[in-house]
Amino acid sequence: MPASEFSLIYRYFSGLGRGDAVDLSVGDDCAILRLAEGERLATSVDTMVSGVHFPEDCFPEDVGFRALAVAASDLAAMGARPLACTVALTLPEADELWLHAFSEGLAAAVSAFKLPLVGGDTTRGPLTISVQVMGALPLDMALLRGGARVGDTVCVSGTLGDAAAALAVLEGKWQPRPADAEFLLARYHRPTPRIALGTRLLGHASAAIDISDGLLADAGHVAAASGVKLVIDPALLPISPALRTYPDAGQVTRWALTGGDDYELCFCLGADQPLPAGCTAIGRVEVGEGVDCGLDVDFAAGYQHF
Ligand code: ADP
Ligand code: MG
Repeated sequence: MPASEFSLIYRYFSGLGRGDAVDLSVGDDCAILRLAEGERLATSVDTMVSGVHFPEDCFPEDVGFRALAVAASDLAAMGARPLACTVALTLPEADELWLHAFSEGLAAAVSAFKLPLVGGDTTRGPLTISVQVMGALPLDMALLRGGARVGDTVCVSGTLGDAAAALAVLEGKWQPRPADAEFLLARYHRPTPRIALGTRLLGHASAAIDISDGLLADAGHVAAASGVKLVIDPALLPISPALRTYPDAGQVTRWALTGGDDYELCFCLGADQPLPAGCTAIGRVEVGEGVDCGLDVDFAAGYQHF
């Protein structure tokens, strides 16, 4: 990009880079982060393409917030302590209004999740945002997908299905009461990565994953990695009061089982471990493979939202 556009990037993205672990931030060839003695780096990257991972008419504030929230969710799922993030931005044009709003949303997420923005890249092309997150883990600990043991309880944080229902609202397929619509849309646009829960579960949960593709799909990854079967009782799924107002209970269950974008954690606890606040036990780990929810769920229905 030309120099003037770089000065724009500088204006909007160079002021979010301060943090405890940051020795050098935006402005040089690399950022430099500091790990404490006895820690190792956990890192992950997520890309969001306009029109694929979010609707083209999303507010840029929400695009900025959500891009970092979604990436941060992977740190939560590992139990990592947030260190910093970098953002690679591909923009069709250097639209200052868009950049200003995007950086406001990003700044809100940077501060909410304690992930200072320490670098990035800026290119021209179809609107695409890649966010890399970095976190710290003790040398001998991590929440992995592969540790679930027969007899463990399967748990989830928060409520499920809200983000999938929000997409139905955005598509004009359902008009909930205004307060419920507001709640559901915020669940989609402003997801809450469960970072504090992740660090609390570290050393206590046997396995964990964040729910980005839907509970059944993501629980399936835990089952496969652990070599066990996860048995989930659909009657136990935590459903928000807003989602409960949807007239078709079967669809609500389908959204909770197969809808993506909730960014809650699904984790397994041994019998001696207490259930953390805000979490729900939804099933158990058995001998076998795959995920059994006792229903013949039509995955396609979940993804198409009707
Ligand atoms: P290089 O050519 O060495 O990759 P760049 O010219 O791409 O450097 O970027 C200059 C500085 O600005 C670097 O420190 C880079 O991390 C930062 N930067 C570029 N784009 C962004 C962005 N979208 N968000 C945050 N920092 C950025
Ligand atoms: Mg570069």
